[in-house]
Amino acid sequence: MTKDEDIPDWAGAQEFYDKYEPKEILGRGVSSVVRRCIDKRSSQDYAVKIIDITPSDKISATEIEEIRDSTEKEIDILKKVYGQENIIQMRDYYETKAFYFLVFDLMKKGELFDYLTEKVTLSEKETRKIMRALLEVVQFLHSQNIVHRDLKPENILLDDDMNIKLTDFGFAVQTDQRLKEVCGTPGYLAPEIIECSMDPNHAGYTTAVDIWSSGVIMYTLLAGSPPFWHRKQMLMLRMILAGNYQFGSPEWDDRSDTVKDLISRMLVVNPAERYTATDALNHPFFQQYVVAEVRHFSPLRKFKVICMTVLATMRIYCNYRRAKPVTKEVIQSDPYAIKPLRKLIDACAFKIYGHWVKKGQTQNRAALFENTPKTILLSIATEQTATIQTW
Ligand code: ADP
Ligand code: MG
Repeated sequence: MTKDEDIPDWAGAQEFYDKYEPKEILGRGVSSVVRRCIDKRSSQDYAVKIIDITPSDKISATEIEEIRDSTEKEIDILKKVYGQENIIQMRDYYETKAFYFLVFDLMKKGELFDYLTEKVTLSEKETRKIMRALLEVVQFLHSQNIVHRDLKPENILLDDDMNIKLTDFGFAVQTDQRLKEVCGTPGYLAPEIIECSMDPNHAGYTTAVDIWSSGVIMYTLLAGSPPFWHRKQMLMLRMILAGNYQFGSPEWDDRSDTVKDLISRMLVVNPAERYTATDALNHPFFQQYVVAEVRHFSPLRKFKVICMTVLATMRIYCNYRRAKPVTKEVIQSDPYAIKPLRKLIDACAFKIYGHWVKKGQTQNRAALFENTPKTILLSIATEQTATIQTW
């Protein structure tokens, strides 16, 4: 019997519809749609990811088989990560010939992506909270040999208390082998993944790809635009391969050296030299403000904190000294140079245009919105032409 014949046709679907009432759409993927749903007995809200596996003109039987396999893998990994604090919990799932139904806790505050869109940029304090939670999740996944492979603000949800929940394990794999499969989302791809598509003899990539994507996320949260962007995707991929990004002005003028240092250690082209999740969590950026939480007195730690505090104070003082007085002339000639006005201008432009404003050839806030393709199949031929297919 084939796998298809094994599955009772509508039995699973009936079971789902008996228990839950589907409501409005919360998000869409290439072959999936996520809806709010209500548990009829408890009246509790959930989110259901409905994955369509019916063959059609658009999707071939082979592709259906691939979606089925990847969904089985997704379910398997979701079961393995069940109970982790900052990972979405799968409460229930049903499988039928035509659909999979994966029931999750509902995250009413939606995606980190939407939150960033609304706020334009985040403070270092807020970035620290989000990135600490994300890197702790990544540290846990990597300790289990799980690579997520699609870390991006769209796949990070926010709960009622604004804590993050990592979701979308559609590309995740658990393996201790090196990987060669090219998948992910263009702007977040690590250089070694792109290299794999160019070189059939490439040694493959490892968990380090998630740290690269985390670095891209961290940069984006603070700058409001991604580190690697060019309107020609091929050139964007080249920028990634060369690790070519800048802490440009004025977005980065008010950001600390500590945060820039951490990002620059995550966005390292050579994966062997790139920080691991543990290295990143031990970076001074995450050591600040935790003094009161340290239960056991450590003179060395205290000394380090004092040094960091002195350095931070000096930095703030220097910045203060460098700050130009805000005069009428400055406001008239260069309002964008003044931080509160810059935030106001960005926010107003955002309200008018509905997306971030283009900021030059290589910096584009609207670029964030171009990362919708779920799967890309990358093949870069020797003459450097790229074909990126989206499902
Ligand atoms: P895909 O694999 O198609 O990208 P995701 O699992 O990432 O599917 O879900 C797509 C979108 O649906 C998410 O980006 C998010 O906007 C929304 N979504 C998914 N799960 C939930 C949830 N538990 N609560 C609220 N919204 C969700
Ligand atoms: Mg997704």
